[in-house]
Amino acid sequence: METRELQLDTVLDSVKDGFFMTNKSGEILSFNYSATQIFGYDKHEVIGQNISLLLPDSEQPKYAQYLLDVTNSTFGEQESKDYGTGIEMIALNKDGNTFPLELAISVLPSNDIVLGTVRDISERKQAELSIKSYIEHIETIMDTVLDGLITIDMRGVIHGFNAAAESIFGFRAREVIGRNVKMLMPEPFQSEHDSYLDNYHTTGDKKIIGIGREITGRRKNGYLFPMELGVNEMTVQGKTMFVGTVRDISERKAAEIAIDSYIRKLQISNSELDQFAYIASHDLKEPLRGLANNALFLEEDHADSLEGEGLRRIARIRFLCTRMEKLVDSLLYYSRLGRQDLAVEEVDLNELIDSVAELTLPEETTQSVHLLIPKALPKVTCDKPRVSELFRNLISNAVKYNNSARKEIEIGVKSCVNPHSNVLEHQVFYVKDNGIGIEGRFFEDIFRIFKRLNEEDDSVRGTGVGLTFVKKIVERHNGQIWVESELEQGSCFNFTLKLGE
Ligand code: ADP
Repeated sequence: METRELQLDTVLDSVKDGFFMTNKSGEILSFNYSATQIFGYDKHEVIGQNISLLLPDSEQPKYAQYLLDVTNSTFGEQESKDYGTGIEMIALNKDGNTFPLELAISVLPSNDIVLGTVRDISERKQAELSIKSYIEHIETIMDTVLDGLITIDMRGVIHGFNAAAESIFGFRAREVIGRNVKMLMPEPFQSEHDSYLDNYHTTGDKKIIGIGREITGRRKNGYLFPMELGVNEMTVQGKTMFVGTVRDISERKAAEIAIDSYIRKLQISNSELDQFAYIASHDLKEPLRGLANNALFLEEDHADSLEGEGLRRIARIRFLCTRMEKLVDSLLYYSRLGRQDLAVEEVDLNELIDSVAELTLPEETTQSVHLLIPKALPKVTCDKPRVSELFRNLISNAVKYNNSARKEIEIGVKSCVNPHSNVLEHQVFYVKDNGIGIEGRFFEDIFRIFKRLNEEDDSVRGTGVGLTFVKKIVERHNGQIWVESELEQGSCFNFTLKLGE
């Protein structure tokens, strides 16, 4: 080998890409070190062989065509064609295995020499394949997501539109991809969207990023619907993209509107009922007073002409009038409880119960009544006089409906499941006694106005309103009340107070 050729070979061997040289008929004249690595041949095994040795039969025509193209394009030119523009081919190595290859050839027109550079692109192809399958994978996942997912670029052009987005908007992905996302919005959101993106371009202020904005969307049929939109930013191959998560909230909105209207109707009918109770009891009072007065006059003026039985009847009428007056007063009070505003403040329940107990439990009962508060009670936001009344009723009932020689009342706070909602509540107040207990079938009835279970027992005769007041007070504090009890096993009244929440 001549010195000049030796020098050239040494230079070519140090090049990272594979390099070969053939004559016009394809005979290999030169093959550098990287090429031997790529194809697995030693130099002496390929020099003098035809280039077709390195290609499977199926690729031979492609190479021939490429060679022709390059030859034609360089025809008449002094300079060879640039190495950089190449093609992808399948090559064959010494072991008989095929692999992807990038090939760029140039033809030197002066002496019909073909120069080729080759690069094994197996790894790149593998990576491309895995990216492709990754994207397919992501697309499959996106299609299983129940929320609509829409990917847009910085200009608002849609790049991705999953199956849920298709069913929300009524467009197929192919109808929207490449178009501006504004097509899915009515005015004024269309213009606002432009200004959001413009703003982002100029200031970098990501106003549109966030979760749960409620806006109006437009379906393919032109119908508008309420939707919740969350936007996230992501970078794809160095480009900023936005992913919008869309949820059709038409049904939720309709349900909210229906609930609001039910609540309004309920509030109206509640206040009408309170109003009715107030007016009715006011109007009842007058004839009642007349009745009582007449009974009194009858007794005073005609006592002589009445027999013992007649006098007893009059006394009974007067007793019943007094009782009815109490009931009417209770009704009036009940209606006031529902109508009057609460005077809300933060109240220390320990102090409140101390003063209620002092007033409710007369001194002579200290021997037989034992009030236990296992741990300090919290402060609560409430109407102090009303909550005092609540505890007064529960404490006096715990004593009234109790035949035990040692009457035990426990007041405390606990966490337990609220049977009305089936939810675990963390602050449930309770008043528990070891009294006569209540049958399960009366657990609801006892809270009804004028409902009494122990009417035959005159010694504990009440008007049957205490628990009704208690329930109303609890409800005015956004709470709920329920009882746990068994006959002869004592009762436990549980309730929540939720004005502070
Ligand atoms: P009143 O005590 O005036 O009758 P309430 O509304 O306070 O009215 O109570 C309604 C009924 O519930 C009572 O008549 C009584 O039968 C029952 N009750 C209330 N509290 C208890 C209790 N702690 N133990 C047993 N029964 C009770």
